[in-house]
Amino acid sequence: MWYPTGMDDPASSDTRHPLGQRARVLLTSVFGPYARDDEYGSRAINPMELYHNQVTREQGAFSLRMFHRSWGLMLIQANLDAPCVLLDFPSRDRFVEELRSQPWDVVGISSILPNVGKVKAMCALVRRYCPQAAIVVGGHIANRPGLRELVGADHVVRGEGVRWFRRFLGEPEERPIRHPLITSAFDSRTMGVPFGSGKGETAATLLPSVGCPLGCNFCSTSAMFGGKGHFFDFYRNGDELFSVMTGLERELRVRSFFVMDENFLLHRSRALRLLELMRAHDKAWSLYVFSSANALRRYSDEELLGLGISWAWLGLEGEASAYTKLRHTDTRALVRRLQGLGIRVLGSTIVGLPEHTPDNIDAAIDHAVAHDTEFHQFMLYTPVAGTPLWAEHRAAGTLLDEAECPEADAHGQLRFNYRHPHIRGGEETEFLRRAFRRDFEVNGPSVARIARTLLEGWQAHRRHPDPRVRDRVAWESRGLPTLYAGVLWAAERWLSRNQDLARRMRTTRESLGREFGLLARLAGPVIGTVLLGALWLEERRIRAGRAREPQTFFEANPAALPEVASRGAVRCRWVEPEPLARDEAGAAPVEVPAFDLG
Ligand code: SF4
Repeated sequence: MWYPTGMDDPASSDTRHPLGQRARVLLTSVFGPYARDDEYGSRAINPMELYHNQVTREQGAFSLRMFHRSWGLMLIQANLDAPCVLLDFPSRDRFVEELRSQPWDVVGISSILPNVGKVKAMCALVRRYCPQAAIVVGGHIANRPGLRELVGADHVVRGEGVRWFRRFLGEPEERPIRHPLITSAFDSRTMGVPFGSGKGETAATLLPSVGCPLGCNFCSTSAMFGGKGHFFDFYRNGDELFSVMTGLERELRVRSFFVMDENFLLHRSRALRLLELMRAHDKAWSLYVFSSANALRRYSDEELLGLGISWAWLGLEGEASAYTKLRHTDTRALVRRLQGLGIRVLGSTIVGLPEHTPDNIDAAIDHAVAHDTEFHQFMLYTPVAGTPLWAEHRAAGTLLDEAECPEADAHGQLRFNYRHPHIRGGEETEFLRRAFRRDFEVNGPSVARIARTLLEGWQAHRRHPDPRVRDRVAWESRGLPTLYAGVLWAAERWLSRNQDLARRMRTTRESLGREFGLLARLAGPVIGTVLLGALWLEERRIRAGRAREPQTFFEANPAALPEVASRGAVRCRWVEPEPLARDEAGAAPVEVPAFDLG
């Protein structure tokens, strides 16, 4: 889980740029292409597609393919008055062209750690073409000790980036946060078919807070924002959040929100105030959230239904793991409970916990697969710089050096960057692959699992007494008798060699037929035939090794637009928070119960 915002380095927190708000700022993500092996550390197995990379990578043509913008950079840009241009996913040549186009005063580069080679190359390009520019590096990469010297930056900033940039440019730090208009994904496809391109079909991204106070030892996001006990709210209460959400709803014509908050439901008073306002204003929104098990457990079924929780990313970690958030939780029962509410679950499991051995790894994988979540992320237990786990390994002398494991390969989807107590170096690559494959062989394509759980939610709640819940459930289930019937028909045939799986596809499709009648029975073969053809083409594309790359975005805030509009920049857009009249509940501080912090 990553999203780069700048980071607040105490060593540079007093620094001010001499030009203040007159400084011209260029923000950029690292240059592409990404989905290939190159000298900068890009890896073909690691394209700029998060779901495919670490969730559905072994699902072949069924894999969920989509790109996500650099949300942290968008947030920073929307909140600066100084002229600010954002270049997202440039090529190296496009980045150079931009550097040469005008004398930038500040260049901000955001990155994750495996892209350190690219950041170094980009800093060198800035020095060459814009020697006057101050170079600011942020994002997860900023957790790496010695980064400033390694890449040749002026400032490596850790923590929350909006305030850092405002301070750096002499702008008021505590001003309310404008929320950029962000569509959660672009260029989405599965089974070789694009989806989500229509107005309002893709959720808006909502950024309520950053960081997670639970501070699990491996969690780089939590570490990046201060670790255990720390987080930063952009919107402290339900009123502010509701105001921003209504703005996003209006501007993007959406009714669903991808809530990019590491542990949204942990902030219970804020979530419950939001529920109150959703009820009062008749909002039948869908919320896709990240949540720890202990936070989720504290909500009743009616609260989850009322809040429109439709999708949850849930850390399962491992059966015997000692994480406080999982204490006293039967995770399989929790997943079943959520699915009974129609909530699609993305379970996240760690491969290579300290207790894992070649002898027990299959049992650990089977335990994960038995959750039968709609999606399953598997990640190698990886000490990432800045985390307590990394400090532990460094103290024990068990980290591998750059020659043994290049930083470009330490992304959790290939190999360990340390010596595991029981697993010999290299074995983990196959264990990880085995986990993904077994999940697919047993549970089938994620898109078919979604259909099953949507149907379960539809059957259980389509007559719910709250019209908002009925409305949302009907909206989320609208594709069941048509598109999903076709998906199941095609999947059944595509996977016919795995009889158990084919039977599962058929069972769900027949249930759709019973529920929706003739329409679903006809749509299955009609739409399914088209999808079979698309699957075949997608398979051919994958076998030919044809990678997909995100398009380049070039956006300017109002102060920068006059200078760059002629070169094709578009104006970045945002919503201003307009707090409603607050009552006591709405103004209540964020509540993080002590037991959650362990
Ligand atoms: S609960 Fe999740 S987000 Fe929070 S610290 Fe643990 S792994 Fe990170």
